[in-house]
Amino acid sequence: MIGGPFSCGLYIHIPFCLRKCSYCDFVSYPVAPFDTARYCAAVVKEIEMALEGDGWPEEVASCLAGASGSGALTPRTAYIGGGTPTVLPISELEAVVTAAIDLCGRGAAGSGGIFEFTVEANPCTLSSYKACKLRDAGVNRISLGLQSTSDQYLTILGRAHSYSEFLAAYRSAVSAGFSNISVDLIYGLPGQTREDWRRDLQRTADLAPQHISCYALTLADGTALARSVHSGQLPQISDDLAADMYFDAASILSEAGYSHYEISNYAKPGMECRHNQNYWENGYYFGIGAAAHSHLPGMRCENVPDVAQYIECVEQGRRPLANVEWLTPEREVSDAFILGLRTSRGVDTSALAKTYGAGLVGEYAERLEKLRETGLVEFDGQRVRLTEGGMILSNRVMMELL
Ligand code: SF4
Repeated sequence: MIGGPFSCGLYIHIPFCLRKCSYCDFVSYPVAPFDTARYCAAVVKEIEMALEGDGWPEEVASCLAGASGSGALTPRTAYIGGGTPTVLPISELEAVVTAAIDLCGRGAAGSGGIFEFTVEANPCTLSSYKACKLRDAGVNRISLGLQSTSDQYLTILGRAHSYSEFLAAYRSAVSAGFSNISVDLIYGLPGQTREDWRRDLQRTADLAPQHISCYALTLADGTALARSVHSGQLPQISDDLAADMYFDAASILSEAGYSHYEISNYAKPGMECRHNQNYWENGYYFGIGAAAHSHLPGMRCENVPDVAQYIECVEQGRRPLANVEWLTPEREVSDAFILGLRTSRGVDTSALAKTYGAGLVGEYAERLEKLRETGLVEFDGQRVRLTEGGMILSNRVMMELL
């Protein structure tokens, strides 16, 4: 029953933040009223249950049992995201990291355990002490949310930190010994000019982190920022300006030695995020915590987003599932194209045909050829990938392929 990629990740969701940013539609809640120690205990218990196959639908449990000996479903990368994981007291976060490493190592069957362990952090919540504790616990990658180097735009975004506080957090991570640091930026902010954005890129590149993510601002329905823009209180930038900013990122960061390996992601040679690459390769992963998603053989599923409900389910020994979607081979192939085309490596159509059948993959040939004629994709031997122009029009490409 197990087909497709033989790699696996572990994602742990910490849905707490200092406060809600104005653009945020992630599952995250201001931390103050929550019993975070109880949440973390539930997370540790869920990791154990998930890896041992407890409480999964029968089809998945038997797959997990069958795969455990081969190590095919043993996580090799871990990522604690949110929310803001570093909003937790360090003892709680440390306990989650240690449990994840112990449990994945225990099930590794000689496959070597986790080799990339990322924790997302926000300035104001990452002291030198916390950074050292995380390093000592086995975390080897930090992803820091900066978003803008201008305090004016940080205020518009409702971020809880200034640029100088980001710099202090960055220095803490470096002096704790982290040599794999990622910095997140957002472009297309209300009123932002190209000069503002180019300064964000240059200042960030000058720090020389190993990895930089550049996301276009999304005005998600129901957020405070979307309301301010739609009511005319704040200006919205044009699509043309957003496109120029996208290409500014590509040129400034490539000049600074970063490779553009995914639509929104840039890395120094060899420093690509392995955990996220597994997502884009349509690999398997366990999602732990409220609202976390999993992809396992033949299924995708989602945990309940409500923290109290999540804790109650896990404490009673039940899987906290809100949704299970069974995947057909057609759906797996479609996901492999949609995800793989986000990356500069693209999709290995021969490997896909070997796993799911040449017939299913061949169904995309005509649509891909049309996209090639319009210059949005290119073929290189057995691989198909987006061109640089196709990357910025990726939504259009994905619509045509669906
Ligand atoms: S820090 Fe991130 S997850 Fe938390 S509110 Fe801000 S954008 Fe959302």
